[in-house]
Amino acid sequence: MGGFADAQPGEQVLAILGFHKIGGPPAGCVDTWFYVSEATFSGLLSRLQENAWHVIDLQTFLVGLAAPASLPRRSVLLTFDDGYQSMRQVALPWLLRFGYPGLLFVPTDFIGKSNEFDAGVEPPEAICDWDDLRELERQGVSVQSHGASHRRFSELASAELEAELRRSKATLEAGLGKPVEVIAYPFGDSGVNQQAVERALERTGYRAACLYRGGPNRLPIANPYRLARLAIGPDTNLQAVLEGG
Ligand SMILES: [Zn+2]
Repeated sequence: MGGFADAQPGEQVLAILGFHKIGGPPAGCVDTWFYVSEATFSGLLSRLQENAWHVIDLQTFLVGLAAPASLPRRSVLLTFDDGYQSMRQVALPWLLRFGYPGLLFVPTDFIGKSNEFDAGVEPPEAICDWDDLRELERQGVSVQSHGASHRRFSELASAELEAELRRSKATLEAGLGKPVEVIAYPFGDSGVNQQAVERALERTGYRAACLYRGGPNRLPIANPYRLARLAIGPDTNLQAVLEGG
């Protein structure tokens, strides 16, 4: 191995990996790039372990935003979008085997329903209900916001955006009894007027927001509302993308 262990000597980085679905599609449905098989997923976790990347939890990340020196030199956040039930059934057992925490971004209008926001594009998949979300929280997967209606921020008027941000946060905080301070932009769309979106995020109590593109983030983080995320699919060469930051 070795390879990327010493790829960026002296540089402190935070790589945020962005997953959607772990496991295969439902019977009879088409396989898409957003499905990462169990074998691929567990292989990626092994690569992180072998190459001494430190998988950190949400609290460590939030502390590290203000105090980057508190973070390991090569930190990783494992993030998952949309909150599919496969998160509890398929991904969680692997995370527990490795002792890795994670972050799950859930569009709150769809809790206990399915991914209607992907209709005609991705196969229908069940989204976690409250019981699933509470179990994930108990097991080290922090549930955070992915908006409420999963609409693109660039399609929302400013009042709609603010209502969306407040509703998603309030719903999760009431249902889970803990603070919600991080969001992943639906479709990775951070809006038309980035400054206005960032002010709305700040006003409504969010401390960080994840995009869905880019490479590892260099520390200190320049703008916590524009965190780059590595989009992970079945064909992703993890070594290459981690080196390429
Ligand atoms: Zn999404």
